[in-house]
Amino acid sequence: MPVKGLGPYDANNIFARILRGEIPSRKVFENEWALAFHDINPQAPVHVLVIPKRPCVSFADFAAVAEEAEIAGFMRAVGVVARELGLEEPGYRLLANMGEHAGQEVAHFHVHIFGGRPLGPMLARGTT
Ligand code: AMP
Repeated sequence: MPVKGLGPYDANNIFARILRGEIPSRKVFENEWALAFHDINPQAPVHVLVIPKRPCVSFADFAAVAEEAEIAGFMRAVGVVARELGLEEPGYRLLANMGEHAGQEVAHFHVHIFGGRPLGPMLARGTT
């Protein structure tokens, strides 16, 4: 079920529980700003999620409320993860779903990193 991407943060969302260590994840990176782990339902040979430590519902929420240091720390972490996964040379795609039209399902901001094969068109083909 898509979520709105705005409104109050639910501290029991699945990524909040992963951050607290209450449920397991296949971690690939962690620092003071971000945690990265493999997506449970990969859509590409490499499909990793990077989430900020700050409890934010969505990209819109994070962009509006996070401190500059958090935004910088998070963006750098995304770059480090992609580099450490060996994706820089062949290339990779970043995706952040925000709200219902994007199909966001987990109400904790996350960036998807896809790679490991040519990724095709930017969006699924369909009516514009
Ligand atoms: P989005 O639709 O952008 O909100 O993406 C949510 C992503 O979280 C999906 O790709 C799911 O497969 C992934 N996901 C959901 N639960 C877990 C979990 N426990 N561990 C890892 N990935 C998950």
